[in-house]
Amino acid sequence: MMLPASGSEAGAESLRAMLIELYDELDAEIARISPVCRASGRCCRFKEYGHTLFLSQPEADLLVEPGLPVGSVVDADTCPYQIGGLCTARERRPMGCRIYYCDPTYQDRQAEISERFIARIKDLHDRTGTPWRYRPLVEFLREAPSPEPTAGNSGGLVVLGEMP
Ligand code: SF4
Repeated sequence: MMLPASGSEAGAESLRAMLIELYDELDAEIARISPVCRASGRCCRFKEYGHTLFLSQPEADLLVEPGLPVGSVVDADTCPYQIGGLCTARERRPMGCRIYYCDPTYQDRQAEISERFIARIKDLHDRTGTPWRYRPLVEFLREAPSPEPTAGNSGGLVVLGEMP
């Protein structure tokens, strides 16, 4: 398959389309395994759960495309897309969010699936000649556009702290 030139707008579009296809494939695989989710929401509260969500640039671009939720607080502790205990970016959420479940019976599969799908995303970068950027979510969020102000809300983005 011929792919558009590296770094071009068409290249970015091509990578995005392939990423969405990869998400669909991943979601289907996870659905077949059916790990248990108790909807605690802790997985999106990183400090409380003791982990960091890493993602690649095209995953971050897709996630933040509509902007951040109005009044978002950006720090390394939580994800601003979790509101009222629920993910408000479900269709755009990155691969790590699709793979991660705290179901203890799923942990070995999780590690294997994560490794395999990260390799697949890297391969998409190679095929489109796109530089590989893989960083914690908070670093991408700090570069994201501020939310549009709406009636009764001045919008705005609160950025807290710096990465260690
Ligand atoms: S994008 Fe959604 S699932 Fe992922 S950390 Fe944020 S709120 Fe949680």
